[in-house]
Amino acid sequence: MNLRVGIGTDVHAYAEGVPMWVAGLEFPAEPKGLAGHSDGDVAAHAICDALLGAAGLGDLGSNFGTDDPAWAGASGVAFLAETATRLAKAGFKVVNASVQVIGERPRMSARRAEAERVLSAALGAPVSVSGTTTDGLGFTGRGEGLAATAVALISY
Ligand code: MG
Repeated sequence: MNLRVGIGTDVHAYAEGVPMWVAGLEFPAEPKGLAGHSDGDVAAHAICDALLGAAGLGDLGSNFGTDDPAWAGASGVAFLAETATRLAKAGFKVVNASVQVIGERPRMSARRAEAERVLSAALGAPVSVSGTTTDGLGFTGRGEGLAATAVALISY
């Protein structure tokens, strides 16, 4: 079995008046959501970039450009499912992905298992989700936005 690994990072700023979607889940109690051309789901976007990078298929921007109205407002889960389709068409199988959500809100721990189920179903492969904070430092520590880093392993 031949393996390839990829890494992905995403950041979106918190924004008033939009729902909070992270790791395929809505967090209705959150006072702010994430700004973006799509739903701003940093976890899903970071996983997509990790997968596309592993496959040598470019990145989220080159696959789902912000100039393409077809992807305006698209959910992170929709990006993940389409990314899985594009990798399969290119002859790759996803082994697994792991994503870490970095920031103050929302806290992922209470819904980690639920997020893993939703993302794994969208990808068709195991996805693990974790969360961390930055001890009050940086833009995530100041509560300006949410970040995510992902790695993905694929085979061919
Ligand atoms: Mg993004």
